[in-house]
Amino acid sequence: MNTSPHATLLQWYADHGRHDLPWRTNPDPYAIYVSEIMLQQTQVKTVLERFYFPFLERFPTLTALAEADLDDVLKMWEGLGYYTRARNLYAAARQCNGQLPDNALDLLNLPGIGQSTAHAIAAFAYREPLPIMDANVKRILHRYYALTERNDKKLWDYAYTLFDSAHPFEYNQAMMDIGATICLPKKPLCPLCPLEKSCLGKTSPLAYPASKAKKIKPVRFRNIIVYQKENRYALIQRRTRFLSGLWSFYESEDKPDIHMKYLGEIIQNYSHFTLEAHVYLCTESVLPEGYEWFSVEEIAQLSLSRADHKVVSLL
Ligand code: SF4
Repeated sequence: MNTSPHATLLQWYADHGRHDLPWRTNPDPYAIYVSEIMLQQTQVKTVLERFYFPFLERFPTLTALAEADLDDVLKMWEGLGYYTRARNLYAAARQCNGQLPDNALDLLNLPGIGQSTAHAIAAFAYREPLPIMDANVKRILHRYYALTERNDKKLWDYAYTLFDSAHPFEYNQAMMDIGATICLPKKPLCPLCPLEKSCLGKTSPLAYPASKAKKIKPVRFRNIIVYQKENRYALIQRRTRFLSGLWSFYESEDKPDIHMKYLGEIIQNYSHFTLEAHVYLCTESVLPEGYEWFSVEEIAQLSLSRADHKVVSLL
C-alpha cells in the first residue's frame, strides 16, 4: 500500500504552485465559476490572455450577466468555442437570481455544471472538502494507481482515496498544477513530481490508462453561399443545437448555381467532425427565408463561428 503524500504535496504547492493565477487570487465565487467554465475545454494560457478579463469586465457580476443579452454574451465568448458553455453560463446566471449556490450539491442543479466543476467551484470558492477530476487529474490518478481501465465511476473512488480533505484548496490546485506542468501527457517528469515516492505507475506512466483506439473524424462537405445585395450580406441566427445563437451564412449540401462566383475553400475542425466547404458568392436577390442583410461593419458586431469568420475573410 502506498503511503500518503499529502505533506510533500502541500510543500510542493507552496514552493512551485501557480499562485498568481487570477482565479486563485480573486476569491469572488462568480469569477471562480467563470474561470472553471472557460477552463473546461480551453487552455489556461488562452483563457488568461484573451477571454477571462474582458468577460469579467463586460459582465462583472452574476446579476450583470443575467441582465445582459445572450447575443452580447456569445460575442464575448467568440473564439473560445464550445458555445454551449456560454449559453449554459447565461442560463445559470438567470436561474441564480444574483446568488451563486455555496455548495456542490446545489451547484449541480445549474445547467452546464457537472460533478467535477461543482466540486471545483465549491472547493475553490467555499473551501468545501471535495476532490476535483478534470482531464489532468484523471491522468495523474490513472498513473498514480497504475490503472489501465478507463472507468470514471471507479476513478472517483480513487480521487476520494488520494484526497487531502484537510486542505481541499491547496490539494486540488496542486493536482491541477502537477497535471499541467509535471505529469504531462507525453513526457511526464517523474523525478520532479511530489507524488513520485508513492506513485505506482512511475516506471511506465504512458501505459496508464491503456490507449484508446483512434477514432477517425468524419468530414462534412458543404457549400456555403454568401448572398450579396449592394454592400450587404445575408446571415441567419442559428437555432440548431450546434452553434446555437451564432450567426451564419447560407450552408447547403446542394450544388451551387453555375453563375455563382467561387470564392475559395474553408476547412474547420470541430470536436466531432471536420467541415470542408466551398464558398460561393451569389448576387441575385433571391434570399432564402429567415435571412437578414448586414453590412461588413454590422457583421463585425455579430458573433460568428470560426468557419464563418473564415468565410468573411474570403469576401
Ligand atoms: S510520478 Fe510520474 S507518473 Fe506518477 S504522478 Fe508523478 S509525474 Fe505522474
